[in-house]
Amino acid sequence: MAKLALFGGTPVLQSTFPSWPVFDQREVESVVNVVNSGDWWMTNPAIADFESAFAKFQGSKYALSLTNGTHTLETILRALGIGPGDEVIVPAYTFIATASSVLMAGATPVLADVCIDTMTLDPERFSEAITSRTRAVITVHLGGVVGPVDDILRIAKAKKIFVVEDCAHAHGCASRGRQTGSLGIAGSFSFQSSKTMTSGEGGAIVTRDKSLFEKCWSLYNCGRKYKANFNEYQVLGSNYRMTPFQAAILAIQLQRMEEQSPVRLQSIQCLEEGLKDIEGITPQYRDPLDSAPGYLYSFYYDSKAFNGLSRSLFLKALSAEGIPCNAANYPAIHQTPLFRNRIFGAGGKAIKSDSTGQTLPDYASMSLPNAENIQETVVSLPHQVMLGELEQVQKAVEAIHKIQTHARKTVAPSLTWVTGVVRKKIGI
Ligand SMILES: *Cc1c(COP(=O)(O)O)cnc(C)c1O
Repeated sequence: MAKLALFGGTPVLQSTFPSWPVFDQREVESVVNVVNSGDWWMTNPAIADFESAFAKFQGSKYALSLTNGTHTLETILRALGIGPGDEVIVPAYTFIATASSVLMAGATPVLADVCIDTMTLDPERFSEAITSRTRAVITVHLGGVVGPVDDILRIAKAKKIFVVEDCAHAHGCASRGRQTGSLGIAGSFSFQSSKTMTSGEGGAIVTRDKSLFEKCWSLYNCGRKYKANFNEYQVLGSNYRMTPFQAAILAIQLQRMEEQSPVRLQSIQCLEEGLKDIEGITPQYRDPLDSAPGYLYSFYYDSKAFNGLSRSLFLKALSAEGIPCNAANYPAIHQTPLFRNRIFGAGGKAIKSDSTGQTLPDYASMSLPNAENIQETVVSLPHQVMLGELEQVQKAVEAIHKIQTHARKTVAPSLTWVTGVVRKKIGI
């Protein structure tokens, strides 16, 4: 039995996965063109060019490029007229921005649990969380997986609730042929450096609704009215505009997605095949009719099937074998200090009710078992792994097998392996 790389053995994978971001001279030239144009503001056509290409790519009509994928969510909510006294339902397992953007818009985030299999918002929990004050729901396509969105759309329609899609993990993904961002009233994208297309920071809103697009435009553009007199300020807006340098890079990154998505899909298929027979590894469920070349490949890790080997040691062993991996990316929202203590007041003050006097949910006392379970037991492979050669992706499966075999042959592996790691570190 080959020695574990964790203890100085040869790693299963000797080569490295592509580093991120992937770029070459094309991005460089595109930025240099903007620099040389001398037009470094929103007037540079690089922005409008990127927006129309991105809207088309996501099957939408309008796109607006913003500073980041947090401001996009906040802008969409404000443009929908959502504010103090309103409730917005968000999944309990997501990046903090999904929930904090609701607070930034002045509204109250109501947390609903996710489905155990897809890790996306559970339609039943969503339905139960609806009150007379619910105005919108933000669905998060976690890792590019859209989940049972038709149920969410149906319930929301019956209750006259807006569906906003947080597509920060889901560029170029689709549910039964419908592109992400085109399912609800609007979609929010992030181009932060870890996302599957990036300009370091950045975000985009997509929508088919002309009036919503114009409202978003006003809000992100200092409150100016769309296509009106430049100094006619009509609403309370901020400046959330993207620079043309970012748009120039993103135009090329978008072209790359067309090359990269099929590679990612092929890798995902390889992982699905390879992992299905490993006891204790349960991948996030992907509907075969959907297409999710997304941000992460996640699976539940059951330490019992690894003879009690803890998730943190499994992660150490797997990365030593040459496979980049992480524990579940986010803490469950209700367990963050921000939400537990409701530090939503001015100057970082804890508050119990919102500005309209409505009592806020008591997040600290909530039990959202599926979100908590993800936080505690999930392992994620970043999307660079999906960009690897097929042979490298197969090595990821092989590495997990190797770790399991070793764990099963070791008495109390968690204890023995910790001792082994410490010994290796101090050289005895
Ligand atoms: C990255 C991300 C965002 C937006 O993040 P920014 O860094 O502000 O662009 C929003 N939601 C989710 C789920 C994300 O992963």
